[in-house]
Order: sequence, then C-alpha cells, then structure tokens
Amino acid sequence: MKYIDQIELKGKKVFLRVDFNVPIKEGNVTSDTRVRAHIQTINYALEKKARLIIASHLGRPKGKRVEEMSLKPVVKMLSGLLQQEVVFVDESVGGKVEQAISKMKDGDIVLLENLRFNPGEDKNDKDFARQLASLCDIYINDAFAVAHRAAASNSAITDYVKTCAAGFLLKNEIEYFQKALVNPARPVAAIIGGAKVSDKIGVLENLIDKVDKLLIGGAMAFTFLKARGLEVGKSLCEEEILDTARKIMQKAKDKNVQFLLPADVACAKEAAADAAVKICSVKEIPAEQMGLDIGPATITLFSDALKGVKTVIWNGPLGMFELAPFSKGTFALAEVVGNSNAISIIGGGDTETAIKKAGQHTKMSYISTGGGAFLELLEGKTLPGIAALNK
Ligand code: AMP
Repeated sequence: MKYIDQIELKGKKVFLRVDFNVPIKEGNVTSDTRVRAHIQTINYALEKKARLIIASHLGRPKGKRVEEMSLKPVVKMLSGLLQQEVVFVDESVGGKVEQAISKMKDGDIVLLENLRFNPGEDKNDKDFARQLASLCDIYINDAFAVAHRAAASNSAITDYVKTCAAGFLLKNEIEYFQKALVNPARPVAAIIGGAKVSDKIGVLENLIDKVDKLLIGGAMAFTFLKARGLEVGKSLCEEEILDTARKIMQKAKDKNVQFLLPADVACAKEAAADAAVKICSVKEIPAEQMGLDIGPATITLFSDALKGVKTVIWNGPLGMFELAPFSKGTFALAEVVGNSNAISIIGGGDTETAIKKAGQHTKMSYISTGGGAFLELLEGKTLPGIAALNK
C-alpha cells in the first residue's frame, strides 16, 4: 500500500475520501472530533500545494437528497480549523462540481455534497465511481470508519484512478492494528466486554489465535458463566449460544490462552441509577437480581492479570457504565490500562465513550476511529476499503 507522503501532490487534483459523519443539531455541527481526525492529512496535502477535493458520507440518506444530512454545515467548522476558505458544492459529481474544480488553484479546497445522496455510492457502482474518478489525478482514502463497507468512493474508484494511497489516519489505524495483532509485543491481553456474545463470536475466535489472555466482562460474561453451569439470575444471557460459548472456552484451553471471567459482580433488581447495589460472587447471583458490572474482586483479578502485559486490546465496556453505580469496573480498568506501560489499543464506539468518561483517553496509545471497521479487523477480516488500496 502507498501512503500520501510517498506521492508528489503539487498542483494535482487530489480526491480525499474522509469520514465527516458528524453529529448535527439544528444545522450546527456539535462535535469536531471526526473533522479533526483528518486535519493532519488535509494540512499535509495543502502544504504540498494539492488542489484538494474532499468527499464524505453523512448519515444514511439511502441514495436520496435529505437536507438534514447535507455536509454544508461542516464548511464553517472546517474553514475555521484550517483558517482557510472552503468552497462547497451541493453535488458530488457532474457539471457544477467540474466547474468548481476548474476554478481551483494550488492549495484550494472544495468540499463535495454527501456522497450517499447518490444511489451509486452504497452500491459500489462502477459508473458513479468512474464519475468521481474523473474529477481527480490522485485518490487518497482516509476514511477508516467505513473501510469495512465497499462503496464507490472507497472501493470501485480505485479501478479508475492510477495513483491511489492512504492518508495518515488510515495509515495510523493500519499500523496500530499491526502493532496489536500482527506483530505485537507479548504478552498480549484482550479485554472484551459489551452487551452480546453473538455480536463478537468472530472476534473472540480470531483473538484466541493471537492473544495470551482474554478478559471477559460486560453482559457477555453471563452467557459464558451460564455455559459453565452457573445461575445468572436476571442478567442478560444468550441461552441459544451456550454451546458456542463452551466451544470458545474449549478453544482457549486448547490454545493455552488464559480465559478470565468475572469472579464477582455488582447486581441490582433493575438497571437504574438509584438501584440498591449488591456485590455477589458469580456462584451466588440471586434469582431476582441482574449483574450490571464486574465486582471489586474481579477488578483485582483483571488488574493482576494485566501486570507485565505489553499489549492491550480493548473492546466493549465491562458494565453498564452509563449508570454511575455500574461504571466502577470499566473506570478502574481504564485507569489500570492508562497507567500501564503497555501499548493500548481501544476500539468500538461505546468503549471510547467509556474511556473518555473515565478521563483516561489521553493515556491510551491509540483509540480507533472505526467501530464496525475495528471489530472486523479484530475478526481477522479483510476490509474492502483497505484491500482496494492494496491492489
Ligand atoms: P457493545 O455495543 O456490545 O460493546 O455493548 C455496549 C453496551 O453494553 C453498553 O451500552 C453497556 O451499557 C452494555 N453493558 C455492559 N455490561 C452490561 C451488563 N452487565 N448488563 C447490561 N448491559 C451491559
């Protein structure tokens, strides 16, 4: 794969695919995180005097123009961050776009309208890809968050542009993933939590081949505890996959991977911020209670297991962290990982929110910008958006 810094950009029309899928309220962008994530790539292209054509999706307009999903509100934020004019075109291909591009000088920026207003985008349509490709000399993909879905602007387009490369955000994602799973410093531990085992079977199966320790928390722990023959009361539990859970644990045993489940849990009769919390051993979860967080003994167990670990991969909160009484486990482990010398790679939307809430996000080595894309990498899948650049 080529990277943006290996290509001559001066005076070239550069099509940059980004993820500006930002939250918008009453016409205003309410968080600049996703825009900032691409600033390094954008600034680099501008410094090198490219003519920068930026394109993104926003929301799921399903091939139709939906005014609330226009990228127009991003113009103000982007030009503010760059201290430079950004020309917006309310189309992503066609005459208006071509005209705006023909007026560009070196170092100028044009932002195109939401790619998903065109039905060809999500269908990875060749004609739409060809039209996008005709706008540029060079194609740069920096949109990791959509790399797991083949779309015209991240897959088919690479068939029609001669020079294609990854931007710095995509480069970072790939390099950190390699540090975590391809060539990691050992021992490697994965902390996996969240709601459902069924969502993460592929992740768990793949990780067992790569890591030395698996620490399981969140609601998904109860399916494994039940599979071991324990009663889990009213805790979330996926009865239909108990067999799969047993197979996963057997595979871990066969591969000599330490598979750690909670020893105790914070329980309550209901998931509420003012619920009476009871700490129970996992062997004694009362029938009318549900486990909503790992307990103090598990915090110690997991913290001890992380001692000496050189690489940590974390996806999924260890409890219902949105409610204060059930945030302790996730926050405590976030502090342990944040204060450790291990390389720490965090991914998945809720995980990032939880780590931020714990105030530990600046201490992590890398927080992935892709929820689904990060999980698919953990599953060992090839992402179409990355494969297209490897051709
Ligand atoms: P996921 O998207 O699979 O990573 O799941 C994240 C969600 O799992 C969060 O909203 C948490 O509140 C929820 N969660 C974590 N632990 C539990 C639990 N013990 N019981 C119910 N929900 C939980």
